[in-house]
Amino acid sequence: MMMLRAGHRLALVGAAAVSLLLPGCVAAVPVGAAAVIGKNVMFAGSDDDQTKDAEKAARKQARKLEREQRREAKRREKAEEEGIPPALQAMTAPARPSSPVAGTVPAGMQYLYGSGEAAALSSQAYRALAQHVRASADYRQAGIEVASVVLAPGSSLASPHFVECGAKPLAIVLDIDETVLLNLGYEADEAARGLSYDDARWRRWEATGAGKVDPVPGAVEAINAARKAGVAVVYISNRTAANAPATARALEGAGLGKAIPGETLLLKEEGAGSGKDMRRAQVAETHCVVALVGDQLGDFSDLFSAAGMTPAARRAAADGIQIEPLWGAGWFMLPNPVYGSGLKGGIGEVFPANRRWTDPGAAAAADAPAGTLKE
Ligand SMILES: [Mg+2]
Repeated sequence: MMMLRAGHRLALVGAAAVSLLLPGCVAAVPVGAAAVIGKNVMFAGSDDDQTKDAEKAARKQARKLEREQRREAKRREKAEEEGIPPALQAMTAPARPSSPVAGTVPAGMQYLYGSGEAAALSSQAYRALAQHVRASADYRQAGIEVASVVLAPGSSLASPHFVECGAKPLAIVLDIDETVLLNLGYEADEAARGLSYDDARWRRWEATGAGKVDPVPGAVEAINAARKAGVAVVYISNRTAANAPATARALEGAGLGKAIPGETLLLKEEGAGSGKDMRRAQVAETHCVVALVGDQLGDFSDLFSAAGMTPAARRAAADGIQIEPLWGAGWFMLPNPVYGSGLKGGIGEVFPANRRWTDPGAAAAADAPAGTLKE
């Protein structure tokens, strides 16, 4: 029962990617403490020395993180008392947990790689994709005009327009990492050793990890359905072009079929930027792109990554009247609470000022005698 409760709580904390104490909360669970709870789950039933050492290190690290987060909560309380606007508070706030704890699985990884909930979300997205692609192919066959979902040059997120399709053959464009492939080997290594992302290590993973990935649930079926309907499948990814053969092997090994470097596998060339608009435009020159699939907003348009796009601005754009109708109807988003552009923002950016709540019982709980549980 304890394990269930702990796991549940971790998923909640991780799904929101929030590590900070909420104002007014007496005993919110900081990530450090959550990591200790996660350790209890991960190490249940194991008693070898290595595990004990890892547990000890995890507890030490968790205590350190808790201290840091208590200090941060106090700083925020003080800033609020002094009337510093939330936006300014957020500028100095850490956006992510300060460091992972070796031997524990961060909540985001538990959710994405381990939970049935994430598998269900992915299957939902891919089932919708397959239906959309079949409908597009049927329309084309019936002589009904099919629309591209690639934004045309000159578009803005408030005023999007799309490239012309004419009679170009149909295609879908998919990102790779955490969109069609789950990088289990790489992430397991990060979790076990308590590491943060490292570019050189990632490149070694690209080159040697082909056999340690899984397809995202639903991807194989949807991609097979697209190919069966005569729709081309193109991957645009910021994996490095130098590792293209290894990435093609990883895709094929995961059951996602053949991808041809430079044709249906468009990776990031050495020295090129991480934007994908140019590569999307390249595909749209020869194909009518009826679906974009990704786990980051940049998989749909570079406009989401423009300078000055705060978390609130990105969310407003994605949920705005011009863009929102695309989700599930040409643009298909997969969950990723592990890394990426969605994991940003302090309290002032994540929570609107008019939706802040102070627990009316907090003062009474703070006055409770020592030893009284505050949760
Ligand atoms: Mg991705």
